Amino acid sequence: PDTDLAAAARRVLPAGGFGNFAPEVIIREGKGGRVWDVSGKEYIDYLLGSGPMFLGHGHPEVIEAVQAQIPKGCTFFANNEHGIRLAEVLTEALPCAERVRFVSTGSEADMYAMRVARAFRKRDRILKFEGGYHGMSDWGLMSLAPKRLANFPVAVPDSAGIPKSIQEEVLVAPFNDLETAKAMIAAHHDELGGVIVEPFQRLIPPAPGFLQGLREITAQYGIPLIFDEVVTGFRFCYGGAQSYYGVTPDLCTLGKIVGGGFALAAIAGRADIMAHFDRGLVGDDGFLMQVGTLSGNPVAAVAGLKTLEILKRPGAYDGVLAYGRKMMAELAGLLKQRGVPGQVLGEPTLFDVVFSAEELRDYRAVMRADANIAKAVNASLRESGILKGDSKYYLSTAHDARDCDQTLSAFAKALASLPAR
Ligand code: PMP
Repeated sequence: PDTDLAAAARRVLPAGGFGNFAPEVIIREGKGGRVWDVSGKEYIDYLLGSGPMFLGHGHPEVIEAVQAQIPKGCTFFANNEHGIRLAEVLTEALPCAERVRFVSTGSEADMYAMRVARAFRKRDRILKFEGGYHGMSDWGLMSLAPKRLANFPVAVPDSAGIPKSIQEEVLVAPFNDLETAKAMIAAHHDELGGVIVEPFQRLIPPAPGFLQGLREITAQYGIPLIFDEVVTGFRFCYGGAQSYYGVTPDLCTLGKIVGGGFALAAIAGRADIMAHFDRGLVGDDGFLMQVGTLSGNPVAAVAGLKTLEILKRPGAYDGVLAYGRKMMAELAGLLKQRGVPGQVLGEPTLFDVVFSAEELRDYRAVMRADANIAKAVNASLRESGILKGDSKYYLSTAHDARDCDQTLSAFAKALASLPAR
């Protein structure tokens, strides 16, 4: 083994990394809202594993639950008590959830949600929204920018097992443009197996009436409406964006927070649609094969159960919401004070500063923002011990007032270090 970890990473990992985040950052450990890299440098962590660590790293009650389970078994490839209990909790917490099927990643959940909708509807096409991210499956990728799709395979089997071009099968509508979405759904209703949407897309909330309008038109034609709640599930409130916005889809997908930091994700929804998940490897006609080696494993299930139990307690979100509201307001204040054009977009538990002189109403406007300023600011923040992804701050219930002050002064310093415009 290489004594120098960074050198070992460059030698054994393609592009020197896991494909997720800046490969030069090598994390040693985390505790609460902070992480330390292998050189001992301390960071306030707003990456938080890309969202799952909503309670912060190493929450004592989650550790205790996981430690109690490990000696009793980590995976069984069979029904187990904790997975069943977690499914029960999800059906109580989420308005759309009558049945739950576990998988290991959000990408898998989205792929299977689209498949089960197609199997139920016996129609193949999917309508989704520009800029919506639904994981790394071929179907999930189709709403991303065409240049990012150039190198992906394009053939997927349809419900009859016949490969078709994914591009032909996916319709992409503009997010938050209800009239266009309605016209597309009306024109193609007889071909559509489902409509999938992030109820809160990237940093952009749904326009008033948008989700409700999608709900009405999909119900009118009997097309399953899927909310991708991989990010939003249990983040804005207990119960997901469907509770937060008061619109109930037919299916939703979950990941990140529901596994409490372990590999667990789920598809949840209407019993009649979910009934198309057949048991075992060989599906009967019209039923969908779905299995996964680690699906519903008890270690991830107890971590998820404990996490949701903690989040259900009265006041569980109060601190993180107050922290987020304060940060969003103060970041916006600093932009104004320093004369840097930009906006703070998002929700108190998930937001970012977007550098742009225009009013950021939609996905395209956010994509037009100045990525170079954002890169420079994020690099300066990292220098100051603030770790965040390229496009968002994820908050945790473990962050405290000291973290907030330190982040704001690091942000002020980052703005001051920008070249004069
Ligand atoms: N859907 C959304 C909205 C996501 O943000 C993500 C991941 N960030 C996924 C799906 C995919 O989840 P995973 O990375 O667990 O495959």
